[in-house]
Amino acid sequence: LAKHKKEAAFEIYAPHSSVAAYRAFTLRQELVTAIEQSQFELYYQPIVCAKTEHIVAGEALIRWIHPVWGTVSPQEFIPALEESGLIVSLGEWIIAGVCEQLSQWHQAGYGIKASLNMSPVQLFSEDLAMIVAQKIAQYQLPADALTIEITETVAITQKKVFLNTVEALRAIGVNISLDDFGTGYSSFSKILDIKPHVLKLDRSMISHIETDATSREVTAALIQLAHRLNMLVVAEGIETLEQLRETARLGCDYLQGYYFSKPVPVKEFSYLLLHQGHVTYQSKR
Ligand code: C2E
Ligand code: MG
Ligand code: MG
Ligand code: MG
Repeated sequence: LAKHKKEAAFEIYAPHSSVAAYRAFTLRQELVTAIEQSQFELYYQPIVCAKTEHIVAGEALIRWIHPVWGTVSPQEFIPALEESGLIVSLGEWIIAGVCEQLSQWHQAGYGIKASLNMSPVQLFSEDLAMIVAQKIAQYQLPADALTIEITETVAITQKKVFLNTVEALRAIGVNISLDDFGTGYSSFSKILDIKPHVLKLDRSMISHIETDATSREVTAALIQLAHRLNMLVVAEGIETLEQLRETARLGCDYLQGYYFSKPVPVKEFSYLLLHQGHVTYQSKR
């Protein structure tokens, strides 16, 4: 019976099945409506100081609240937005939304920072840095209160356009963070072309830390190397107390994961801030 069930499930979720194709097709159509009707919401996940466990920043993570399907994962709809180019306009909405929210938190007395994810497609636009600069000015934010998270794809391809945009962003004064480090194949030398301020160790690295001594040593060496190159290190996907202790022991500067909090709506994030009292983010730079 179990075997039967498994096969049935496979048939439904196989990417080539007509059901999946139909879903992908409707997804695209629904996304257009979603943008028109602003069915998106920004959630924030706390990033805490490894030493004090105080919230020093929040990573903005997009949520699509579909009227019928409920919450759709960004894993599912970001690629569709990228293929259609719709990510550019939604991206601008995200930049504006994060800047506005951050300024509200600052006005409430919370000197936190905010991170936002940037798709490679967005980095292709030469206007990106200008848009970011304009929003920072509009909401009177210190530029280094904003961190732009980019993925290894950008570092690997080494396309001139990407590097130029990253350079323009750096010139504004925002922080550049290399997201999901450890999932791809990028070498440190390629990363140095990007010269990120922050290295985010992927969850897959963190989950091996407890069980595998070799990966623990590799992680330790990476953290040291990052520090020597003046980068700060964030460990992503901290789910257990053991992972917290180990990453902190290995010298990670900041930690993020379900152990502290899942990504939550603004109201709940504000509540988390209120609950722990006012904190000030100390930038090493
Ligand atoms: P990411 O930027 O690496 O974000 C971290 C993801 O890991 C988030 O998933 C977060 O909810 C999840 N996560 C955090 N802590 C834990 C943990 O302890 N355990 C586990 N299992 N997961 C954890 P989410 O929100 O589903 O986002 C997935 C990806 O979608 C993001 O990965 C990012 O690449 C992309 N994404 C999300 N929001 C945006 C956005 O506004 N713009 C763009 N371009 N991409 C976005
Ligand atoms: Mg991220
Ligand atoms: Mg990540
Ligand atoms: Mg990711």
